[in-house]
Amino acid sequence: MKSLKILFLTLALLAGALLEAKPRVHIIATGGTIAGVAASASSSAYVAGQVGIQTLIDAVPQILDLAEISGEQLVNIGSQDMNDEVWLRLAKRINEILASDRYDAVIVTHGTDTMEETAYFLNLTVKSAKPVILVGAMRPSNAISADGPVNLYNAVAAAVTPQSQGKGVIVCMNNQLLDAKTVIKTHTINSDSFEGGPFGIIGYVHDGRAHYLQAPLNRHTVNSEFDVSNLTEFPKVGIVYGYANASPLPMKAFVEAGFDGVVLAGVGDGNFYKDVFDAAVEAQKQGVQIVRSSRCPTGPTCLNGEVDDSRYHFAASLDLNPQKARILLMLALTRTRDWRQIQKYFEEY
Ligand code: ASP
Repeated sequence: MKSLKILFLTLALLAGALLEAKPRVHIIATGGTIAGVAASASSSAYVAGQVGIQTLIDAVPQILDLAEISGEQLVNIGSQDMNDEVWLRLAKRINEILASDRYDAVIVTHGTDTMEETAYFLNLTVKSAKPVILVGAMRPSNAISADGPVNLYNAVAAAVTPQSQGKGVIVCMNNQLLDAKTVIKTHTINSDSFEGGPFGIIGYVHDGRAHYLQAPLNRHTVNSEFDVSNLTEFPKVGIVYGYANASPLPMKAFVEAGFDGVVLAGVGDGNFYKDVFDAAVEAQKQGVQIVRSSRCPTGPTCLNGEVDDSRYHFAASLDLNPQKARILLMLALTRTRDWRQIQKYFEEY
């Protein structure tokens, strides 16, 4: 009789513990202004990537009300120094964490300069439907009205909201939730720098909960065919900027340096100055894949619009800006050299 009582008590305690169990969120810190320190609270001079993960967590004890939090420091850099090696480590580490039953979501703290690139890269290479949220800050950690703590709180709120699952990698900045494919940093210093351009935000965070307005339609995460698990490096892809009277030298230099692909941040609908166009035709003949994109902040770069892509075997980036087109081309070139297949990737991802 007594042992039965103990059994029931144990079961009741277990059930209670399970009911109260908070989602387990793991934070991977990579640096950025969220971990930056300024000379003084009112100074605009600061160095990114100075404080560690535990300091970031300690600054927002309220996140412990939302989730069980753990953290690790992957690197501590300004995101202007983000690179292939860190991307590979980051994607592999996130895949390892999310494959485990012990974790429900991952947050990556990141500098804002290249946050959109890392978000899109992870969107194509993370193999899990569990939430992956990127967060940063526009003001250093010791600034007046630092935005890091509230952004981190909102990121945790988004990570524990069940509707965040299956939406691909999400950027959480300034109370807003943005899709990895469309998010852009639009302002050099303002805290409301991140936008989804004409596609808008996909949701917002309020009172410790994420609310969604729309979901991304492109392929991502569990539906992405790109796999970095056995990769140690990427094909080399550069970007050439378009402008009036542009020099063909950067295009030629990339070809001579043995690059595998070049994205053109073209004028208008992905147009090139005539000398750059000739260099691009030559590059494509030599097996360097050209993808046309645009320096315009909005609007697609259309296939076979003003440029006869089918004739030259160029691909068009459609809705991807040059820096994200570079990432898709880099991953595409790990699988194929066929320009038609590469164009298909730009249609799907
Ligand atoms: N340069 C910084 C970085 O990207 C800017 C920021 O985080 O806001 O790391």
